[in-house]
Amino acid sequence: MKIGAPKECAEGEARVALTPESAQHLQKLGHTCLVETGAGAAAGFDDTAYREAGVEVIEGAEALWEAADVVIKVREPSDAEAGRLRQGKTLISFFWPAQNEELLERCRATGANVIAMDMVPRISRAQKMDALSSTANIAGYRAVIEAGNQFGRFFTGQVTAAGKVPPAKVLVVGAGVAGLAAIGTATSLGAVVRAFDVRPEVAEQIESMGAEFLFLDFDDAEDGSESGGYAKPSSPEFREKQLALFREQAPDVDIVITTALIPGKPAPKLWLEDMVKAMKPGSVIVDLAAERGGNCDLTEPDQRIVTDNGVVIVGYTDFPSRMATQASLLYATNVRHMLTDLTPEKDGQLHHDMEDDVIRGSTVAYEGEITFPPPPPKVQ
Ligand code: NAD
Repeated sequence: MKIGAPKECAEGEARVALTPESAQHLQKLGHTCLVETGAGAAAGFDDTAYREAGVEVIEGAEALWEAADVVIKVREPSDAEAGRLRQGKTLISFFWPAQNEELLERCRATGANVIAMDMVPRISRAQKMDALSSTANIAGYRAVIEAGNQFGRFFTGQVTAAGKVPPAKVLVVGAGVAGLAAIGTATSLGAVVRAFDVRPEVAEQIESMGAEFLFLDFDDAEDGSESGGYAKPSSPEFREKQLALFREQAPDVDIVITTALIPGKPAPKLWLEDMVKAMKPGSVIVDLAAERGGNCDLTEPDQRIVTDNGVVIVGYTDFPSRMATQASLLYATNVRHMLTDLTPEKDGQLHHDMEDDVIRGSTVAYEGEITFPPPPPKVQ
């Protein structure tokens, strides 16, 4: 099959779904790889690097979409891109089918098959294709780097001839994949790190990384874990206790990284205006939930703002694209693993096995039908 990666057309998107390295693996499966001219430039992969890896570089998006049997992309397709799909073609990209019903219908009507990388089931066997985790890991890391960039002091404590510098105090709210990456990054920079999550089972992971888990004095039966390891909305009583805990922390911490999300719901508001007001001037909040409405009352998506009391609030929603090389390497690897499972005979032919839990779970349109939402996976 001809597997082609177009240049991403969403504004500001610097990532690419094919790297010279992933192309070499795909060729070993019997596939031919194509890339649109300049598609990898913003991520640090120029056309020469692709050519050297045996990839055919094609001028223009239309020619690329026409030539490719399988189009691999980062972002969901634009309307113009969806219009280039045809029966017999397969699209693999992030898609967010629940939020993009019209786009899904448009793609279905073309007869093309669509695999959504955001729908890969979170079971052990599929970890190598888990692009949500790869992306969240980068966002968590980059959030701390961004906070360090905005913060006017060291993370690590120092005793110098010019005086003693205390370590920065970092609070991470939400310890899923992004939160754990933020905790790891902040502790490795020498900060004193505290973290909170509604799922008490993450306490051990947090502590093993050298951070402190902020326990809430609450009946275990009321904790925030839902089946499948995700969080559920908190009860009003739990929420009040949580907010009281954060109110205590606000004047003490220098940096707050918020990552709290609940599947299918807007981000819970956890860092309220009065907490921002109670923070010291020069403190920094990085709100990784900005795209889903933000965990902080004052977050403005895609903006960096400074409050009247001198607190910087960062609401960027493009952290993975701000680390486009690393993000592309990991995402291209996730996509390459998906294609490996779709090519079981390593003969350059796609075998779209709808009996396979992972492939079925990720497929949102198949042979003219919408196949989202999928049935629950049989194997965990
Ligand atoms: P997520 O992005 O949905 O949420 C981020 C975190 O916010 C979660 O830890 C959640 O508990 C927390 N949160 C929600 N409401 C909160 C509140 N009010 N206060 C504080 N924290 C709050 O989470 P994620 O990173 O996608 O991970 C979710 C789960 O999936 C985890 O259990 C993770 O281990 C699991 N997971 C499994 C696999 C796999 O098996 N392949 C891969 C990735 C993640």
